[in-house]
Amino acid sequence: MMLTVEEARQRMLATIPVLPIEKRDILDCHGYVLAEALYAAEDIPPFDNSAMDGFAVQSADVIGASEARPAVLSIVETLAAGDAPTKPVGSGQAARIMTGAMMPSGADAVVMQEVTRPQNGGVNIFEGVDENENVRFAGESVTRGALVMEPGKHLRPPEISMLASLNCSAVKVHRKPTVAIVSTGDELTRLGEPLEPGKIRDSNRYGIYAQVEEAGGVPIDMGIAPDDEAETERIFRAALSQADALITSGGVSVGEYDVVKSVLERLGEIHFWRVAMKPGKPQAYGIADGKPIFGLPGNPVSSLVVFELFVRPALLKMAGHSALLRPTFKATLAEDVANSDGRVNYMRAILTEEDGEWNARTTGPQGSGILHSLVLANGLITIPKGVTLQAGETVAAQFF
Ligand code: AMP
Ligand code: MG
Repeated sequence: MMLTVEEARQRMLATIPVLPIEKRDILDCHGYVLAEALYAAEDIPPFDNSAMDGFAVQSADVIGASEARPAVLSIVETLAAGDAPTKPVGSGQAARIMTGAMMPSGADAVVMQEVTRPQNGGVNIFEGVDENENVRFAGESVTRGALVMEPGKHLRPPEISMLASLNCSAVKVHRKPTVAIVSTGDELTRLGEPLEPGKIRDSNRYGIYAQVEEAGGVPIDMGIAPDDEAETERIFRAALSQADALITSGGVSVGEYDVVKSVLERLGEIHFWRVAMKPGKPQAYGIADGKPIFGLPGNPVSSLVVFELFVRPALLKMAGHSALLRPTFKATLAEDVANSDGRVNYMRAILTEEDGEWNARTTGPQGSGILHSLVLANGLITIPKGVTLQAGETVAAQFF
């Protein structure tokens, strides 16, 4: 039976485990997914403070102040960021205050320096301010006791900054998946070695390695397995023993030397899926010892696209993410495209924006061995099965 991409992905994702929780230092948790709720133990900011360099005043003292009729105030003290005020500001008085310095009692606003001039040890003020103007209040960013981040939050730079504001030096996060990667095939030649007749470079392993990193996983390079059952099994078992997931490429089709299938069958509960998609029809998916195994097709474009549509969301789920799929959007075709196939076609496309609209054109020849079709592309467009679309019609697009 041929599964649709959505069916296959749903079935696969339902079996993917979320990895256990560990505590990590704040400087070592970027990119992880939070596994606890974080509440504010303190107000942020912790005290009322000035948003400007200027003068803390009683706003009633400067009502109607102008260049012609300045308000004339005496200065009680100067407050730098980090100072605690020692004197209240009374009527007719001001405190010189810098951005971030604590508001002195008595003052209810800050006049910015640009509308003031020093005068005989005091200050002349040429503009009024409203009560509370240029004051940042205690707790206005986060109030003590408030829920600031929920489990599942992806820790990006703003979240890391917030952790520090909350005085959190370590947090509970989900482990990142370690992912073992094995290429299979007697034709594969390592980089730097001469290409003998009939041989090709092993490119998939490197592309998959980068995709694992991009998806927030930790890749483990397990090299090349020859088309030999015993040796392939040995390498796959070694890979599984040291990683949370295994990705293989090649050997899952119906060819004579596709030994990966029989080896995978011995490792665990593996399904050989013919997913109704192009590129990438043959693929294997299963679980062994609770660890996901992805058998990607050997053709370079298929391998990269199947990873994108299946493995990436799975690795995100393992790491604790809840949003697993990249957003899709509509793009207008710049050329006619035909998909006579009974499978949805993920064409490699160049997506460009013009006046807020996205346009798509394909990257030329789309064979599943033509890696360059992806190198030229910045996205994929989805051509439903058995349709011919004219330039000007819209398709679903996503960045790749
Ligand atoms: P297979 O499914 O093993 O028959 O592989 C399908 C096609 O992909 C064949 O042309 C292989 O040579 C090619 N292929 C398999 N593995 C790789 C790889 N790691 N790098 C580049 N091409 C590969
Ligand atoms: Mg092969």
